[in-house]
Amino acid sequence: MTPASAPTDPTPDSKALRALPVAEIMRRAHHRHLLVPAFNIPYLPMVEPILAAVAELRSFALVQVARPDIERFQCGSYQAVAREFRSLADLAHARLHQDHVPVIDEEGRRIEWRPLVQEALDLGYHSVMIDGSRLPLAQNIAVTREVVKIAHPAAAVEAELGAVLGHEPGPLPPYEELFRSGRGFTDPEEAARLVTETAVDWLSVAIGNIHGAIIGAARDQRKVEARLHLEHLRYIQERVRVPLVLHGGTGIQLAFVLGAARHGIAKINIGTAPRQAYETTLRQTSDIRAAQQAAAKVIAGHLRDYHIVGSALLLASPV
Ligand SMILES: [Zn+2]
Repeated sequence: MTPASAPTDPTPDSKALRALPVAEIMRRAHHRHLLVPAFNIPYLPMVEPILAAVAELRSFALVQVARPDIERFQCGSYQAVAREFRSLADLAHARLHQDHVPVIDEEGRRIEWRPLVQEALDLGYHSVMIDGSRLPLAQNIAVTREVVKIAHPAAAVEAELGAVLGHEPGPLPPYEELFRSGRGFTDPEEAARLVTETAVDWLSVAIGNIHGAIIGAARDQRKVEARLHLEHLRYIQERVRVPLVLHGGTGIQLAFVLGAARHGIAKINIGTAPRQAYETTLRQTSDIRAAQQAAAKVIAGHLRDYHIVGSALLLASPV
């Protein structure tokens, strides 16, 4: 008989995630069909409630910053969010991501993307996104390769292929018409080529999802209830083995989101719903604390809806 030894705890410990690169965490999420939400930071005080909600529910999420968060809203800068993140985040539950660095932006302007990506890498962002989706495929591949070269192995890279509309000025074409025509949907063969030729870590796809409006009065309005073409997603997933990303998470009917998680979507970007909760409460109460709580409530609701309460524990064990 062996003497009673110190009990070994078989319960996985989410703390193991702290030491892992975000690319590995996402690989596990993808393998287990777990969603990792990525929440945008349009206002700096939103970092805290997002991190608090995610840690409290033992989940895992990304905190992300896009150019519109800086230029059209008030998060300050990539640096301001990085500083806030570093002072508050538990890496077992969150990482920092640079969202959308477009080569050509929503208004058709060429963007000096290299210094923007370099800035995030220098600030220690765990992953970056280069958006060459408005370029011809060969050029999209070329810029994505370049970013992979400067980012790896320190940071993971997300690319985009297909047209996720919604950020452009002017009215969106009627949604049903867009969906039926499949216009702008990611081409599965092109996706396979882009991933193989660039070694990119994650790929953002267009399968009926649309961005929330960020320009003018439309940004306060309720988003259209988008659907997802899950069969088309399956075609993409059959040809592409990396985790896929769904932009424009707010307003997509939940059944479609959960279906998408079963067919390769591992990261879902969420901007509009927490932002609107924060803004509305701040407008009504002029109380930042109350606005933060409103945002936290929306975040917690997403974690429950996506069935990822406790996901950090699942992600802590290898696949
Ligand atoms: Zn996006």
